[in-house]
Amino acid sequence: MRYGFISDIHSNLEALETVLSKIDALNVDEVICLGDIVGYNANPNECIDIIRKRGIRAVLGNHDTRATGIDEPTDFNPVAAIAVLWARQALNEENRRFLNELPRTIDMDGKFMVIHGWVNNTDSYIMGAYDAAENFRLLKEALGRKLGGLCFFGHTHVRVTYVDAGSEVSANLDNPLELKPEANYLVNPGSVGQPRDGDPRASFAVLDEKDSEITFYRVEYDIESCARKVLEAGLPDVLARRLKAGW
Ligand code: ZN
Repeated sequence: MRYGFISDIHSNLEALETVLSKIDALNVDEVICLGDIVGYNANPNECIDIIRKRGIRAVLGNHDTRATGIDEPTDFNPVAAIAVLWARQALNEENRRFLNELPRTIDMDGKFMVIHGWVNNTDSYIMGAYDAAENFRLLKEALGRKLGGLCFFGHTHVRVTYVDAGSEVSANLDNPLELKPEANYLVNPGSVGQPRDGDPRASFAVLDEKDSEITFYRVEYDIESCARKVLEAGLPDVLARRLKAGW
């Protein structure tokens, strides 16, 4: 099987469509979404419609919980809060219900886990090796085994892999990344709709099970169109500007 991983779409329809057409050209069997379908940009319903129509399995992100009203954006910065409350009023009832029913974790038949933030918390960020080590502990607990653990996460909008080789946890940027059975991995494919590593191109990853390998991709998309819609919707203009700079 070949799996495609998309994360942090954030209502960016142009980026989502471009990434999915690239994924389709890469002979991917199944696409998985790591949360935050909505927030920030101007096409929440259109993005959810695509996820639903294609039957893409997804976990709940922290913007998704604020858009549905599961949580309030009291801990969001003012711009993120304005955008997620805009999404809340824009969502149609069907799509609100769809988000509302998303699980917080997916265990893909013991092959890999899917989360948004931490293994046990949608809102927390895995920001470095120390956080990763704690999540490897939680992952081993959840899987009931010490090795061969593979987990995909999002939330930070920055591509990285953490490798638990037994004695230490380290960050890794290999591309492609070769998976070894004697290690554990936490993999962030980066963000589709709002990359934050200075590269404005949309980011995603593909896992090839047969080759035990993950490849990371970046694709250009129509940023101008997405940015224009942000402004037309009356959302804060910083959200349009940051797309062009990749932060
Ligand atoms: Zn996000």
